Amino acid sequence: MKIKEIQCKSCMTISKLTDYVINPYTGCQHGCKYCYADFIRRFQKIPDAWGEFVFAKVNCPDLLPKELEKKKPGNIWLASVCDCYMPVEAKYKLTRKVLEIISESDFKDKFTIEILTKSALIKRDFDLLKKLNVEVGCSLNTLDENVARKIEPLASSPRERIKVLKEAKENGIKVYGFISPILPGITNLEKLFRELSFCEYVWVEVLNTRKSVMKRFYPFIKENFPDKIKDFEFAINNPEEYFKQIEEEVRMLEKKYKLKVREIVKH
Ligand code: SF4
Repeated sequence: MKIKEIQCKSCMTISKLTDYVINPYTGCQHGCKYCYADFIRRFQKIPDAWGEFVFAKVNCPDLLPKELEKKKPGNIWLASVCDCYMPVEAKYKLTRKVLEIISESDFKDKFTIEILTKSALIKRDFDLLKKLNVEVGCSLNTLDENVARKIEPLASSPRERIKVLKEAKENGIKVYGFISPILPGITNLEKLFRELSFCEYVWVEVLNTRKSVMKRFYPFIKENFPDKIKDFEFAINNPEEYFKQIEEEVRMLEKKYKLKVREIVKH
């Protein structure tokens, strides 16, 4: 794993996904096999494989006070091209510094914050999160620890993630589930809805079957889950029909578990 300290030009970036994103790091140690944030490698011409490099933007918290003052009010999402609580955060504490600065800023009421993680390290920052207008989510696509270990090698286990959400809720923090991505033949939506029914709401995201993602993920599924390859092929070759099936199941589960679905994300 290559870890390099770099300087960045801005901390908050305007985003199509929400109002602003903060990525304290480029690259992600979690190395999820389906990750499509790896477009950043092509974009920034990074030769290392996804999951094998992290650039820590060590000056990013220093840039934040002025940006909070100047930017228009909006929602800040942490993070879009990394997990801001990946293992290296235990050393650099860049995410913690960002949250400290927001919590101490005179302009903190201009912003809402959404954090999405697969790491139990976020529990370290509950003291700060309690003071902020924040929603904390964990992404999950299976409850099977062995499957998760193969697909999301360095992330916290699914059980730990559910524990994170429960403890965050006990601390008065709003929590949501992010069922993502739905893995054809692997993800059991009903089990996930049942486990996440204590959350405020869930997002559901269908697998991104874009060629650049499948180039890495399809051979991985073929090697590790050969009995699921037919399910994947159906989803890849019949995207509309597959989405319709998912949508019907999700709407049924939304009613059954009284768990609001904020959006079914389709690529
Ligand atoms: S945690 Fe998120 S950003 Fe990191 S590798 Fe996994 S999907 Fe990609």
